[in-house]
Amino acid sequence: MDPTVSPFDHVRLFIPGPTEVAPEVRTALARPLIGHRGEDFKTLFGRLTPRLQAVFRTRSPVLTATASATAIMEAAVRNAVRKRCLCLVNGAFAERWYQICLANDIPADRLDWEWGQSVKPGPLEDRLKLGLYDAVTLVHNETSTGVASPLEEIAGVVACFPEILLLVDTVSSLGGARVEVDDWRIDVCLAGSQKALGLPPGLTFFSLSDRALERAKTCSRRGYAFDFVQYHDFWQRSLVPTTPAVSLLYATDLALDRILGEGLEARFARHREMAETCRRWAQDRFELFPETGYESDTLTAVRNRRGVDVVGLNRELKRRGAVISPGYGKIQSETFRIAHMGEIQPAELRQLLGWIDEILKLG
Ligand SMILES: *Cc1c(COP(=O)(O)O)cnc(C)c1O
Repeated sequence: MDPTVSPFDHVRLFIPGPTEVAPEVRTALARPLIGHRGEDFKTLFGRLTPRLQAVFRTRSPVLTATASATAIMEAAVRNAVRKRCLCLVNGAFAERWYQICLANDIPADRLDWEWGQSVKPGPLEDRLKLGLYDAVTLVHNETSTGVASPLEEIAGVVACFPEILLLVDTVSSLGGARVEVDDWRIDVCLAGSQKALGLPPGLTFFSLSDRALERAKTCSRRGYAFDFVQYHDFWQRSLVPTTPAVSLLYATDLALDRILGEGLEARFARHREMAETCRRWAQDRFELFPETGYESDTLTAVRNRRGVDVVGLNRELKRRGAVISPGYGKIQSETFRIAHMGEIQPAELRQLLGWIDEILKLG
């Protein structure tokens, strides 16, 4: 990075994870450790719970796992599916859930939409009426395509089937876009630390409804390391079953203050503002990849119709102090992605877009 051209003190991450972490949150990682069975730990952990519940908008437990989000996607289906799972697939992360079911010998079907489309309630309702399923998986914000599916409407459909649990990956939306766990009746809602929550990678937070807990108690497949029943037992005593990443919990303590200090509504508005800025910029110069009306507020997936060399672009951006992301999975070369989530501020995004214009001689 060249300090003569950059207002930033390090290379800013406009990628969909890991994202920027505030200096004070990073500093917390260096604190001396404490044992995870003592009173100090319980005090720390107990302080996190009500604030995590506020972020998830739930009165149910919000548990913390030292693991990346994929591990808890796996745990969720192991703890929730007794009969058969329906996986709603409209991109790479949604498909991951189906692959996880197969890898765990969990009976599963997939209901597909083209990449770039959102999941739609209509076909879902038709499928659920068959009476085959006891769980549905959904990715709220599909990070591979930049599509946000209408979670509230989809949850409304699933709620009409009392036997069916709704498992939702909000990994790249929670903390940046509205997720109402209780009002929308989401049974398991999970989010990784390294996306819109603005924490380093390494933790996954997940809520557990009463129904999900009762179901888990009857699931023989729930495994050992991420047994939700055991997690819940420990959680009631402000503990976790196995050694947690204590340093990341210090960081979470501060990050939650930042999130709730800003206020969820203000945070959603900031993400919306950045998304609108980025979408306008992309529409003028490229094209948006997502179906109109379902664009994500936390990242923008751009159709690379100019054939821009994203590796070369990133080399130039890095000199100035920023980095963006290529496409993901089967649309890797057709698209690129600009994430604007967590700690990124509107002025920083405008700086980035200005640099891209300058490098590509656009605008
Ligand atoms: C990043 C991401 C994941 C995977 O998270 P890991 O922490 O890498 O396991 C899952 N789902 C979505 C929507 C994501 O954006």
